[in-house]
Amino acid sequence: MERKITIRVRDGLHARPATRFVKLAKSFGCDVEITKGSKSASAKSAVKLMLLSILENDEVVVKTTGEGEASALEQLANYLQDPLAGLEDNEAAAPAAPGALKAVAASEGIGLGPVFAYFPEPVVPDARVISSAEQADEVHELNVAIVIVRQRMKHGAEDKSLSAADRAIITALSEIAADEAMQSEMVEDIATGASALNAVLKISARTADEFSKMGDTYLKARADDVRSVGRQIALALLGKVDTDLSAIPAGSIIVADDVGAFEFTRAPLKKISGLVCAKGSATSHIAIIARTHGIPAILGLGTGMEKVRDAKFLAMDGMSGQLIPDPDDATKSEFEQRQKRANDEREALGGYLNFHPIRKDGTKIEVAANIGSAEEIDVALAAGAMGVGLFRTELLYMQHRELPSEEVQFEVYSKIAEAFKPHSVIVRTLDIGGDKPVAGIEFPHEENPFLGWRGVRMCLDRPDVFKPQLRALLRAAVVGNIKVMVPMIVDAGEVRAVKALIKICAGELTAEGKAHAEFPLGVMIETPSAVFAADELAKESAFFSIGTNDLTQYVMAADRLNARLAKLYDVTHPAVMRAIAITAEAGRKAGIMVGMCGEAASRVDLIPKFIAMGLTELSMSPASIPRAKKTLAKLFEIEI
Ligand code: PEP
Ligand code: MG
Repeated sequence: MERKITIRVRDGLHARPATRFVKLAKSFGCDVEITKGSKSASAKSAVKLMLLSILENDEVVVKTTGEGEASALEQLANYLQDPLAGLEDNEAAAPAAPGALKAVAASEGIGLGPVFAYFPEPVVPDARVISSAEQADEVHELNVAIVIVRQRMKHGAEDKSLSAADRAIITALSEIAADEAMQSEMVEDIATGASALNAVLKISARTADEFSKMGDTYLKARADDVRSVGRQIALALLGKVDTDLSAIPAGSIIVADDVGAFEFTRAPLKKISGLVCAKGSATSHIAIIARTHGIPAILGLGTGMEKVRDAKFLAMDGMSGQLIPDPDDATKSEFEQRQKRANDEREALGGYLNFHPIRKDGTKIEVAANIGSAEEIDVALAAGAMGVGLFRTELLYMQHRELPSEEVQFEVYSKIAEAFKPHSVIVRTLDIGGDKPVAGIEFPHEENPFLGWRGVRMCLDRPDVFKPQLRALLRAAVVGNIKVMVPMIVDAGEVRAVKALIKICAGELTAEGKAHAEFPLGVMIETPSAVFAADELAKESAFFSIGTNDLTQYVMAADRLNARLAKLYDVTHPAVMRAIAITAEAGRKAGIMVGMCGEAASRVDLIPKFIAMGLTELSMSPASIPRAKKTLAKLFEIEI
């Protein structure tokens, strides 16, 4: 397996980060080769690696071959993309921590506690060959097993102690269990003589494998879900259930090859001090559950699990991905101190949870969340989000094998609107182009996809794609405080075209007798033309939301994904800051709200400048919300 990686390690792979990288590479059974330009070297030799002279922002190709290659590649890539790899954090702990390991930092927090080893027996195929006379019975048993698993999930989801996010994950798993394509492949396999058990094991493994080869990290992470649902169905066929996690002693750290998301939601989460798995990634469902419940998690440990499997005690840092099996006393007390510091900081920031910043003139400043799925609702609420300033709807389209129906979308938008009531939820209409394929939309090859047929351009050309989304949003506007914004806008004509389509959709819904309501329609300001046309756009828009991620790349003509241009891709460049100020001024003159949902909105050094320009809404990743609120409290001299 190989992957092209842009080096983010500060100052490149010089002595210490290189030695640590080699140590990590050596912890895997597979071969690891790293190539820069025309030169390659084994990543298990520090000397050869340093001779490659790999600098920050260089592009390299890392190739892993052999046992555990996928997980090794993920961890190595993770290391190379961490600016602090081999520096700061590790420096503090590593010298005092012989035998430290590093893997995917999936949920932050310090964990320290006894190991709860969770290694259920694997389900093995049987040796039966099914005759054609037995096939109908075998298919029947398969269907019964699927029903049993779905029933179990349905009951599991009814558990009152679950969060909305946990429930959304169980629903997603139940959908996998009900997947018709997978079921018919299993039935086809039975028709060739396979037992139901073997068909389930084979088809779920094959489907998981397809997912794990996907380029998108979210889709890749679905492989674990398919595998664990397959296991549940196989166990049901055998009349068994997995040993559950209910017996876990309080304060333990779970160590496992993999924990299915469903089993994890059913575990007594309050008793768990940490989670360490050989499989999984930062986008796995178990990672999302761990983050929701504040459980430190390190995933994708791969063959490193051999060193952890028999440990009695673990020290782990879910922020850096570092873990130490059976730490000595000095390491234990260092981790205790780090845990205390982290708790103190969390507690201090926790004071801002219900804080609603108010400018000296009485204007309320909204600090909202950027989310990409209903699964993130709880994390955002727990962080003190005052609504959603950007709901990216792309995932909804990317995670299905076909375009999501109006009904599916209505459910998701309603769930989010309901959860954040009375705060507003700003849903961004589909912002997708040829760089991110979606089943059901044929994108032509383009030389410059970022300047191509994407966002509102594609949507206006494809009313068959756009209308179900607009109809779902009109219907969800009855449930909660839905606002809608349109990406990649370049002029007022496009806004008028969207409005015309909304009017058609509303007319259709009226004729069909379906409840719906108007929503405020805003635009994203992320193209230079939108900045220059801001006065005109303000007349057609209920609000502006500045997308600094794209605005920076288009103003600076610097591709946001090109690491070589990182210096040019700078939101603090006077040209970009000027574009933001022009937008804010146009909005202020027209009396509409101006917010920001690009990454810059969470920068504590820039927040005072944005507030001075007149922005009244800042939307960011949930994890950044408490710190942003603290910055605003300080700026407005409000004691918390
Ligand atoms: C932006 O461009 O700033 C933005 C918020 O949208 P995205 O990062 O999804 O393009
Ligand atoms: Mg954008």
